[in-house]
Amino acid sequence: MKKVIIRKTEEIENWRNNISSDINFIPTMGNLHNGHIKLISTAKDDNSNVNLVSIFVNPLQFDNKSDLENYPQTIDNDIKISFANGADAIFIPSTEDIYPPNNKNIKFIKASLELSSALCGLNRIGHFDGVCTVIYRLLNLIKPKNLYLGEKDWQQLLILRNLILTKKLNVAIKSIPTQRDFDGIPLSSRNVNLSKNERELIRVFSNELLLAKKIFQQEKKVNLKEIIKKLSAKKISIEYLEHLHPYTLQQSSVEDNISILAGAIRCGETRLIDHIFLMRRRPIIAIDGPAGSGKSTVTKLIAKKLKLLYLDTGAMYRALSWLLKKENIDYQKEKKLQNILKGISIMFKSNGNANQDVFINNYCVTNEIRSQEISSIVSKISSIKEVRKFLVEEQRKIGESGGLVAEGRDIGTTVFPDAELKVFLTASIDERAKRRKSDKKSEDSQKMDLNKLKELIKRRDFEDSNREISPLKKANDAIEIITDKYSIDEVVDKIIDLYNERIPKETEIK
Ligand code: AMP
Repeated sequence: MKKVIIRKTEEIENWRNNISSDINFIPTMGNLHNGHIKLISTAKDDNSNVNLVSIFVNPLQFDNKSDLENYPQTIDNDIKISFANGADAIFIPSTEDIYPPNNKNIKFIKASLELSSALCGLNRIGHFDGVCTVIYRLLNLIKPKNLYLGEKDWQQLLILRNLILTKKLNVAIKSIPTQRDFDGIPLSSRNVNLSKNERELIRVFSNELLLAKKIFQQEKKVNLKEIIKKLSAKKISIEYLEHLHPYTLQQSSVEDNISILAGAIRCGETRLIDHIFLMRRRPIIAIDGPAGSGKSTVTKLIAKKLKLLYLDTGAMYRALSWLLKKENIDYQKEKKLQNILKGISIMFKSNGNANQDVFINNYCVTNEIRSQEISSIVSKISSIKEVRKFLVEEQRKIGESGGLVAEGRDIGTTVFPDAELKVFLTASIDERAKRRKSDKKSEDSQKMDLNKLKELIKRRDFEDSNREISPLKKANDAIEIITDKYSIDEVVDKIIDLYNERIPKETEIK
């Protein structure tokens, strides 16, 4: 594809009309550095879409005239950098192009009041309205599939996500973690204006945030006063320092698994922001749904792609059923069962084929637990109070430090009610019966008549949904995905998109 530089709005409209593939859009204000480069190269590596970088210093988002006048501009170098790192086209409009005088078509947008009333919004009146106005204008001109943004400007990212949602724009936000310089300070176009001394002050500030993260990992709390005291002692002028919920930007509470510690400091004429995400445990994805909805296939792939542990709770119930059956244990006898459960250990071990084996009391039962014999008793056994209590505790132990994707029937409602993402995966009975019949892992199901399979699935659904303890139920905050019409990869991609929306990329950095 021929690389192009576009300068006029009519030209960009023409260019857009002649492009049939999807577009990745990377808006910037120029003076590009490694943060911008990471955005452009991530877009390039993500997919085969056309990558469009825009360079426009948006006057509407400056609340200070001299800040606007001093904003560093390095257009020729920016063009070279953009093309060298994966841009297919660069849009460099003039202010008159974006905001034509007397043009009534320009829509001035108000940013979400809740989100813009915190952090930078407190002192930069109108700043986020300006950001929303220019991005709304650019999105309408460019109509991209993906919008690439840096988590460095986390509040901006939240406000733009809210804009896309409220204006019902068909664009997905993809984010990248904050890129830092050799000394740990966030890369910013404004850094060129810093004196050596100012730069040192920011380094101290960023390091203090990093230290707060380390302390949080041990003590699970943040002492804002202490941090402010330390920074003030070093003559750092703090505009704000807040510990907030990462999505609502309201005060963080002890229940928040993820929170954000965000601050802004002033160094001479320059104002710099930095933040750090704090996590009590790594994220958890809970996938629930009826038998045959595609849960295990999808969950396995998600675990692999997101490098999460795969917790197959169904296999735990099956393994236990297998043991009770093999040992001929009368599981209706409560006392006896309690004693037996005390001596049981269930473990998962990777078998090197990107799959895992399940062991009960050190006996590998991966294949045996998929027999029709076990399928026909597992629902009954899993409805026994003691069994559920025992296995839910085991599952919570495995999930204590998070970093897993678990599938089952009560993960989002009972086992991990505080999971960051809850999905309820389902499919019609016809579709699920068809899938079971072609399940290569179960010879029994392959041999069975389709109508008989449908009957069995219906019965299993009824038993699972009507048992007294932890019935199969969609959690209130779970997202339902009906998988009939989707391929496995499409379902996996949908769930990964939802995960990426909820979990800042930065939390993956140790
Ligand atoms: P700007 O040119 O400052 O308007 O930034 C353009 C895009 O680059 C925004 O999405 C920013 O969040 C992103 N960005 C700027 N600096 C960094 C950085 N140090 N790390 C990651 N993203 C960044």
